Amino acid sequence: MKQKHVNIPIFFPQRSCPHQCVFCNQQHISSRVHIPSTKEITHSIEQYLHTIPPETEVQIAFFGGTFTAMPLSEQEEYLQLVQPYIRSGRVQSIRISTRPDYIDNETLALLKHYSVLDIELGAQSTNDEVLRQSGRGHTQADIVNAATLIRRAGFRLGLQMMIGLPGDSAQRALHTAQTICDLGAHSTRIYPTLVVAHTPLAELWRKELYTPLSLEDALAWTAPVYQNFEQRGVQVLRVGLHPSSDLSNGALLAGPYHSSFKELLLSYVWLHIFKTNVQKSYETIHIEVAPAQLNFAIGHGGSNRKFLQTIAKHVVITAHAELSGYEFRMC
Ligand code: SF4
Repeated sequence: MKQKHVNIPIFFPQRSCPHQCVFCNQQHISSRVHIPSTKEITHSIEQYLHTIPPETEVQIAFFGGTFTAMPLSEQEEYLQLVQPYIRSGRVQSIRISTRPDYIDNETLALLKHYSVLDIELGAQSTNDEVLRQSGRGHTQADIVNAATLIRRAGFRLGLQMMIGLPGDSAQRALHTAQTICDLGAHSTRIYPTLVVAHTPLAELWRKELYTPLSLEDALAWTAPVYQNFEQRGVQVLRVGLHPSSDLSNGALLAGPYHSSFKELLLSYVWLHIFKTNVQKSYETIHIEVAPAQLNFAIGHGGSNRKFLQTIAKHVVITAHAELSGYEFRMC
């Protein structure tokens, strides 16, 4: 059985996008980043394959833009291009990302024929007002329809969401996460909204018509969303920077960016657990957590240990192999 999973990403910046989503800067980037030629795609795949160890599950991932908005003949051209890698067993399957309003049975039949396994939809929100204010050009009904067709056709469904879009709230974000689970998503990605140069959102921000979340609020909104996915068994593939955001050359104007956003988030979850469960004043606190959680329980830069030190003189946090998830023991 293959152990690790690796994606070989092929980027089509804003290719065939029918709308300008307010937060997306791929339109700007695409003037500098071109669509790769078939020769460049095969060259890139070969280079990746040289570095991937055996016993790895490999997927070719067509990211960026709206794959299924391309004419069927173009979609087929790209899918055919990578078939030799599937037939030879060097690559196991294909992943594509697209929009909810560009899924129909004809397209799904084509994707199925060419070994596409995962279809990721940029849902972003399941609230129609948030979708409208974000210039998405589709509704919640499109998300439900596409998710239903994708699952019925036997694909693995990914539904990406954003936190803090115009019109969003903590309750709406959590409702989006719950709907993503209800729709049977296999995986998700969570992107806090950032204000990036050369986007409609940057204009709204300049005119003071949009205020991005603070880092603290972004963590507070994202924590219940993340825990909801964990509890419902939806794999969180990424938390943090949206891949459409080119932050080089001062492109980031405002918003809750942190290079270790996921680490901060998991530290925040543990801080909440400690605040809820550790209330008395102690001389010494010894807390045991699952090995995988040790760094997050201690907190980013030791922040949770520092909080506990306001409660007890001596704080010891160690790992215990018998514990898992957010289980902990305190003595
Ligand atoms: S967010 Fe996705 S659908 Fe919207 S413009 Fe960017 S690449 Fe296209």
